[in-house]
Amino acid sequence: MIRLLSLYFLFMMFLIFTTHGNSVCSHGNSTSEKYKVIIVGAGISGIGAATHLLKNNFSDIAILEASNRLGGRVHTAPFGDFLIEYGAQWVHGLDDNAVYTLVLPYNFLYIQVVELKNSFVKHSDSKLNLSVINDWLFDEAVEFFYNTTDMTSCNCSVEDYFDKKFKEVIELKNIDKYTAQAVNDFFKKTQGSVYGTGNLSTVGWGNELHQYYENKDLAWKTGYHSLIDILLGKYEGKELPVIQKTKFNKVVQTINWTGNEVQLTCEDGTHYFADHVIVTVSLGVLKFSAKTMFNPPLPNNKLIAIESLGFDIVNKFYIQFETRWWPMNFAHMFNFLWTNEDKQRFKNESKYDGWATEIIGFHFVENQPRILEAWVMGDTARLLETLSDDDLIGAVMEVLNWFVGNKYTISHPINTTRSAWASNPFVRGAYSYLTVKSDHLEFSAIDVIAEPLSFNQTNPVILFAGEASHNKHFSTVHGALETGWREAMRILNF
Ligand SMILES: Cc1cc2nc3c(=O)[nH]c(=O)nc-3n(C[C@H](O)[C@H](O)[C@H](O)COP(=O)(O)OP(=O)(O)OC[C@H]3O[C@@H](n4cnc5c(N)ncnc54)[C@H](O)[C@@H]3O)c2cc1C
Repeated sequence: MIRLLSLYFLFMMFLIFTTHGNSVCSHGNSTSEKYKVIIVGAGISGIGAATHLLKNNFSDIAILEASNRLGGRVHTAPFGDFLIEYGAQWVHGLDDNAVYTLVLPYNFLYIQVVELKNSFVKHSDSKLNLSVINDWLFDEAVEFFYNTTDMTSCNCSVEDYFDKKFKEVIELKNIDKYTAQAVNDFFKKTQGSVYGTGNLSTVGWGNELHQYYENKDLAWKTGYHSLIDILLGKYEGKELPVIQKTKFNKVVQTINWTGNEVQLTCEDGTHYFADHVIVTVSLGVLKFSAKTMFNPPLPNNKLIAIESLGFDIVNKFYIQFETRWWPMNFAHMFNFLWTNEDKQRFKNESKYDGWATEIIGFHFVENQPRILEAWVMGDTARLLETLSDDDLIGAVMEVLNWFVGNKYTISHPINTTRSAWASNPFVRGAYSYLTVKSDHLEFSAIDVIAEPLSFNQTNPVILFAGEASHNKHFSTVHGALETGWREAMRILNF
C-alpha cells in the first residue's frame, strides 16, 4: 500500500511539474520551482488573490498552504443532519460587503433575525428579575450601550466602557444589583465573542468606530464553503485552477529576499522561488513567527504593529441530541443569565469544575433539528480544546439541567464536535481586533501591516494580505477577501 501511495505521489509530482507551466530550476543541488507570484496561505484572502490574478490572465502563480484544505478559517463540515461551521458563520452586514455582493445572485443567504427579547432563562431560584430584562433591556438598552459617541469620548477599553455605562444604568433605572450584574456579565461576554476574546480590558474603543455593521447578519443556507465555490467559478461552468495551483501541506518556514528573488523554504525542506510573495497567514501566525520568518527581518514598525493588535480565541462546540427537545417558540437561541451567587452555587455542585458558567447560551442551527451550538471565549475556549467528549457533554448537561431541566425533558446527547483554533498551528487564535495599545499608537497598526516591502520604492516584493490587514473590515471574511484582491491588484498594476 505504501509503495502504491509512493508511486501515486511520484506520478502526481510528475503531473504537477509538467502541467503548471512554471519553470523548474536548479539552485545548488536541490531542484526548486520558480513562479512569478507565490501566495502563502489558501484562506479566503489567498484564494481572493489567486482568483483575481488568474482572472486577469496572470497564471504563473502557486499557493503554498500549510494544511490539507482550502479555506483557512472558513471551514464547513458535515455533522449531524447537515453541515456545521467550525469557523466563520455569518456575513456581517449588507452595505460595503464584498461577500454579500458576490453571493447575492445565488440566493444562498438569508437574513438572520436575532430576537434577544424573551430568549433569556435563569435558574428557578435565582434572584434575577427577568421581566426587567425583557421589558427594559431590549427596548432601550441596546441603544443605550452601543453608543459610538459615548465610546469615543470614553477613550478607554471596551470593558471600562461597559462598566461605566452599567453604573449609569443602575442609577437611572433603579435596577437591582443582581440583575444588573448578570446582564453586565452577559453583555461583556457577547461583546467578547464579537472581538474574539475573553479579555475586554485589552480591547480598544477604536473597534466600534471602524466596524459598524447595520446590525444585520446573514446566514448561509448552503454552508460558508459555497463562497469558495463561487470564487473558484464553479457555478459559472468554468472553474479557475486554484486547487491545481495549490501545494497542500507546505508549511512555509522562512522567506528570504536578500538576493534579487525571493526564496521560500518549507518545513519539509523544499524551496520555492518567486518575484513577488503575498503573505496571507493569520495575525496569530505572524505574532508567533514574524521575527524568524523573514530575512531581512521585518521593519520595526511592522513588528510593533503585529505585536500591538489583538488576536485571542473563540471556539464553538456542537452537541447533537437524540431528538429535538427545545421549544419552537425560541427564535434562534436561548441565553443564560448568571448572578455571581448562581455561579458559585453551580460551581459547588458541579462535577466538572463549573467551567460551564462561562457558557452564555446556545444557538439552534439551520437545517439541524437536533443540534445546539455554543461559543466560548478566552481561557474557556482554550480549555475546551483539552476536554474529552464525555467531559464536554457532562458539563453541557449540567448547565442545561440547571437552567431548563425543570421545564423540558432533555434528550440524550449522542455526539459532539468542536473547533480548536488556538492549538491550530496555522491560525493560533480567532480574529484580530484593535487594542487599547494600538488605539494609542502614532500610526495605524493595520495600515502598517498592509504595507508591502520593496527592493526599491516601486517593486513590491513581499506583500501582505489577510483579514488583519484591512483597516475597516478586519476580523471578517469580506475584509480578508478584499485584502487578497488589493494585493493582486498591486502586482497587476506594478
Ligand atoms: C470561530 C470563528 C468564527 C468566525 N466567524 C466569522 C463570521 O461569522 N463572519 C466573518 O465575516 N468572519 C468570521 N470569522 C473570521 C473569518 O473566518 C476570518 O476573518 C477569515 O476567514 C480570515 O481569512 P484569511 O485569509 O485572512 O486568513 P486564514 O483563513 O487564516 O488563512 C490563512 C491560511 O494560511 C495558512 N497558513 C498559515 N501559516 C502558514 C505557513 N507557515 N505556510 C503556509 N500556509 C500557512 C493557513 O493554513 C490558512 O489556510 C470567524 C473566525 C473564527 C475563528
